[in-house]
Amino acid sequence: MKLSELGEFGLIQRIQKLSSRRAPGVVVGIGDDAAALNVSSSALQLATTDMLIEGVHFDLSFTDYFSLGWKSAAANLSDIAAMGGLPRFCLTSLALPPRISVEHISEFYSGFSELLATHKTVLAGGDTCSSRNDFIISVTVLGEVKKNRMVTRAGAKAGDKVYVTNTLGDSAAGLELLKNRGKGPGARVQGSEIKKLIERHLRPVPRVEWGRKIALSGCASAMIDVSDGLSSDLSHICVQSNVGAVVYSGKIPFSKALFRSAGSLKKTPLHYALSGGEDYELLFTTPPAKIKRLLSLNIPVTEIGEIARTGGLIIVDDKNRGRRLKPTGYNHFSRSALRSR
Ligand code: ADP
Ligand code: MG
Repeated sequence: MKLSELGEFGLIQRIQKLSSRRAPGVVVGIGDDAAALNVSSSALQLATTDMLIEGVHFDLSFTDYFSLGWKSAAANLSDIAAMGGLPRFCLTSLALPPRISVEHISEFYSGFSELLATHKTVLAGGDTCSSRNDFIISVTVLGEVKKNRMVTRAGAKAGDKVYVTNTLGDSAAGLELLKNRGKGPGARVQGSEIKKLIERHLRPVPRVEWGRKIALSGCASAMIDVSDGLSSDLSHICVQSNVGAVVYSGKIPFSKALFRSAGSLKKTPLHYALSGGEDYELLFTTPPAKIKRLLSLNIPVTEIGEIARTGGLIIVDDKNRGRRLKPTGYNHFSRSALRSR
């Protein structure tokens, strides 16, 4: 069978079936933002790892090494944030082709360390080897979370409201601008707007403090970070929680920069939010009784929908028309992902 027939998420499910066994130490295994392991009486150890491959996750013709280092850290810190955890240690492994210089690696680690330092997370090891062609990065972050405060993807209940932090879609629009570089759609987007959107793509901010605050307050029943696009990431919550969800397109929050650039970009802000990904905002569900407490945390959150007992994902437009929302976010091995390489 071809990988494109199974898709990334189908493949992960198959690996899960083939190799994971129930063990008392594994509180959360394959299928969430990070694994949660029982290593002490009061806290759980969180572990997450991500690979970034040149030509798949980043393009060195428009990504500087500082930003690449920053983003490699951000993607993993964001997974710890999505569990409500505190990042502590990290490991980095690099496969380096001959054209990458010592100066490039120094820049990479400047960006990496700058973001790590903000979150008091320490680089504790890794691995370095040579590669024939592509630059490959693997980052692992270890963190911790109080036992009864962890938030997983499984826990959303019918009637819970769906919330998202800050705004969605900027990162994907920024990527489009970088790819076009002054030509084609987006060429007329103004300087300050371009800067904001591109910055959100190259130097995303993991919402570690917000994730911890939300988790410690006990307001969230389920949580995930938006790394693959709203449609895919909400679908992960629905599958893991065994529920459906309704999202109102008119409620999805967009930045001013995205709104102002929308006219000259190829796609709508809604498209970037649903299918784009790499926003690294938090998407979570809150029972109605806890909304007041959530709003008192002073985190920029927007209610965008609600959880239903069943029915998959439905998106309702401004005219109150509903349609089924397919998870169209990034999926390695999907035909379009393979074509774009
Ligand atoms: P995220 O987008 O949050 O990084 P992923 O989609 O990469 O999440 O992973 C989802 C889940 O699948 C995680 O629990 C991860 O540890 C697990 N996973 C992904 N690939 C593999 C693999 N090759 N072997 C075992 N587990 C995997
Ligand atoms: Mg994640």
